[in-house]
Amino acid sequence: MSLISRRKFVYASTLLGVGLKFISPSNIFASKNNSVIRPVVISTWDRDRKPNLKAWEILANGGNSLDAVEQGVRVAEDDPENNSVGYGGLPDENGIVTLDASIMDWKGRAGAVAFLQNIKNPISVARLVMEKTKHVMLAGEGAKRFALAYGFKEENLLTEKSRQAWIKWKESLSKEDNWIGNESHDTITMLAIDKDGNISGACTTSGLRWKIHGRVGDSPIIGAGLYVDNDVGAAGATGVGETIMRTLGSFLIVEKMREGMSPQEACEFAVKRLIEKNKNIIKEPYQAAFIALNKKGEIGAYAVRDGFDYVVSMNGETNGYKSKFEIKE
Ligand code: ASP
Repeated sequence: MSLISRRKFVYASTLLGVGLKFISPSNIFASKNNSVIRPVVISTWDRDRKPNLKAWEILANGGNSLDAVEQGVRVAEDDPENNSVGYGGLPDENGIVTLDASIMDWKGRAGAVAFLQNIKNPISVARLVMEKTKHVMLAGEGAKRFALAYGFKEENLLTEKSRQAWIKWKESLSKEDNWIGNESHDTITMLAIDKDGNISGACTTSGLRWKIHGRVGDSPIIGAGLYVDNDVGAAGATGVGETIMRTLGSFLIVEKMREGMSPQEACEFAVKRLIEKNKNIIKEPYQAAFIALNKKGEIGAYAVRDGFDYVVSMNGETNGYKSKFEIKE
């Protein structure tokens, strides 16, 4: 099933019993009378609401936003059916699953891992980098050794389903293949504000499928795939990481919110900038999208093109929304 038809199927058969909502006016999430909404969780892609529900459960029980985002995205990492994150993620061109992840909290701390192999929960390794070391990012073999030292188990992350998909791609490989496609972007980026007004964010991915071995995307790059500044808000990304890295979209969104833009306005600004700065570089019909959250609990989302959706938990409800987008085709 193609990603697009699979997503329609997920829409039609969602088991979580929560209402589906479609493109909404951008101000639907603006707070009324300057009031503050807490807690709030927003995450990329409405493929499965369990990550949001996990984060919400933690926040509703008085937990903090850092635990909420870490535990929330771990649900996606553990899910073998999610082929863009953690276990079951589609491999690179050599059939090897390599993972990227980053995390930031309200204290301004950041941790990240890149090109990590055979460790199922990169987000928790990123959190340990943040909490246990003076560094921000560990990569490759060093990141794995660090994880093993903290008791993580080495395991095979390539599921049979992902291996079959890779074999099929190898069989149909052509000269036109360039590692950039418009499908298979299900990176989960999650942003949350807790009852105390503290904001954290997490981003985790197996990156672009069939990428060149060694390729690292935007997800572990602080400011590209994720950025949190507790004075202002947070932003996170999904899509072709190269376009996002060139414009440091998440950092840009937080800075625009600092200047007074709403999360929605800031996401739209960042998508327009991304399109402008990538126009002479990337010709394929790529996808990239941002989500954002501010101190008041207001949120925003915007994509380059149609097809991006996201999940929001607030006021005890978890709903999926179809994002607005820039390029109308
Ligand atoms: N942003 C991710 C990357 O480029 C891909 C995705 O969003 O699924 O690695």
